Amino acid sequence: MNILVINAGSSSLKYQLMDPETGVVAAKGLCERIYIDGRLTHKVGDRKVVKDIPMPSHSEAIAAVLEILVDPVDGVIKSTDEIDAVGHRVLHGGMKFSDSCIIDDKCIEAIEACIPLGPLHNPANLMGIRACQAVMPNTPQVAVFDTAFHMTMPPKAYRYAIPTEYFENDDIRRYGFHGTSHKYVTRRAIALMGREDIKLVNCHLGNGSSLSAVANGKCQDTSMGLSPLAGVPMGTRSGDIDACVVQFICNKYGMSVDECLTMLNKKSGVLALSNGVSSDFRDLEAGANNGDAACQLALEKFCYEVRKYIGAYAAALGGLDCLVFTAGVGENGPTTRADICQGLEFLGVKLDPQRNNVRGKEALISADDSKVKVWVIPTNEELMIAQDTADLVNAAK
Ligand code: ADP
Repeated sequence: MNILVINAGSSSLKYQLMDPETGVVAAKGLCERIYIDGRLTHKVGDRKVVKDIPMPSHSEAIAAVLEILVDPVDGVIKSTDEIDAVGHRVLHGGMKFSDSCIIDDKCIEAIEACIPLGPLHNPANLMGIRACQAVMPNTPQVAVFDTAFHMTMPPKAYRYAIPTEYFENDDIRRYGFHGTSHKYVTRRAIALMGREDIKLVNCHLGNGSSLSAVANGKCQDTSMGLSPLAGVPMGTRSGDIDACVVQFICNKYGMSVDECLTMLNKKSGVLALSNGVSSDFRDLEAGANNGDAACQLALEKFCYEVRKYIGAYAAALGGLDCLVFTAGVGENGPTTRADICQGLEFLGVKLDPQRNNVRGKEALISADDSKVKVWVIPTNEELMIAQDTADLVNAAK
C-alpha cells in the first residue's frame, strides 16, 4: 500500500509517501512559505529537489506535492491513483476522538468543534484535509489525532481541580499531546519487552517534551494538559507554572493574558533559563561544557523536572518495568539521559554507560542487573499515522 502522510501547519506542509507495512519511505518533503510565496523541498533517498512554486493557499501546496510525486524525473509513482489513502495529523481531537477516524462530513464537523481547544493547529490541519479532498476526491482520508492515545486516562488524571462547570460546559481538562509518538513507542516497548502487561514511562524529549505513564498499553497519565504548555520545561515553553505568575506579570507589566502566554510558550523554557543562549540542547551542552552557569542551570532544571515526573509516574503506576527515551533529545542525548536517570537507582533504574553511548538507534541502555529496562526507541509518528490509516481503510473495505 502507498499511504500519503500529511502534517499541515499554518504556513507549511510536511509529507511522506510510505508503505505502512515495511515503513519504507518512497519520497518525503516540505512545502514552506504557503500564503507568502511558496517553496517545495522534495527528497527521494539522498536526492533533494528544491522548487519555488507559488502557493497562495494549501490547495496549491497539495497540488505541487501530487505533481512532483508523479513527475517522470523526480517522482516515485506513475499516477496519483497509486496513492491508496491519505493520513492527516490533526492536533486536537478534544473529547470527541479516542482513536483515528475516516474523514467524512461528521468527522470534519467534530474537528471544527475542537478549534477552540487547538486554535492555531486545527484550522491548518483542516486546510490540509480540504485541499486533499478537493484534488483527490475518491481517495480515502484518515485523521490521526495527537490527543487520542491519552483518552484512556482516568478522571483522576484528566480532571483539573476547578469548578465542574468548566469541564462540563467547556471541555476543560488534561488532554496531552505527542500521542502518536507515545503510541508508537508504547507498541515498540511492548514488542521489545515481549509482553503487554508492563508498567511503562515514555519520555518524549524534543523541542517540545512530554511524558506518559502507561499500563497494559493504555495511557494512564501524561504531562501536557489542555495545551502543550504544561509539564516539564521545554525548548521555549515554561512547562508547569503557578497561574498566579500570569496574574503578577500581567498586572505589573501591563501585558495582556495572550501576550503573557506567548512569552510562556515562545520565550521561556531552557531558552530563558540559559539567558537566551539557545533552545537547542546541543548549544546548551556546549555552553555548559565551557562553564556557562546559566546553560548548566537550564540542563540541570530540565533533567530534574523530567526525573520528578518519572518518579511521580512510577508512584502513579505502582511500579516501573520499562523506561523509554525518544525524540530529538531522548534519542540523541546520552548525557541528558544519564543526568535524568541519576538518583533513580532506588526505583531500580541503572544505566550501562557503554550502552547509553548511543544516538538515534533502538537500543537497550540499562545494565543487565537493572530492574527497570531502559530503552532508546526512535519515534516514527509518520509510520504510526500510515499504519492507523491503512488499518482503518482496510477494515472499511
Ligand atoms: P520537535 O519537537 O521539533 O519535533 P525534535 O524531536 O526533532 O523536536 O528534537 C529537537 C531537539 O533535539 C533539538 O532542539 C536538539 O536540542 C535535540 N537534539 C538533536 N540532536 C541532538 C544531539 N545530537 N544531541 C543533543 N540534542 C540533540
